[in-house]
Amino acid sequence: MANPYLAGAAGRCPRCGEGFLFEGFLKVAPACDACGATFAQADSGDGPAVFITLIAGFLMAFGAMFHMIAFNPPIWVLLVVWLPLTVVVVLGLLRPMKGLMVAAQFAQKASEAGRDDVRK
Ligand SMILES: [Zn+2]
Repeated sequence: MANPYLAGAAGRCPRCGEGFLFEGFLKVAPACDACGATFAQADSGDGPAVFITLIAGFLMAFGAMFHMIAFNPPIWVLLVVWLPLTVVVVLGLLRPMKGLMVAAQFAQKASEAGRDDVRK
């Protein structure tokens, strides 16, 4: 059995680590094609966007500030370097972060609260 968090971050099934977690770039597959685990409960919502905003925002803002202070380039150089780099970093983090969040939900058996969850 694979580590569900590493498998999810790699875009693999959090149960078996073999099948694919995604159908497209970010669309979660209905089920694992290797072991049949269903991902219908998986809904990462805004979770990945929050973490990516914080992580990429920190990296890009401080990187651009360091660049500006250390080398004092013209403003167009900052825009040409840091805007595309930000897009690349954000798109690069999206899939691993969503996979990680879906895998965390799967591993922790997270789901919507139902009637059975209410204490009687
Ligand atoms: Zn699987």
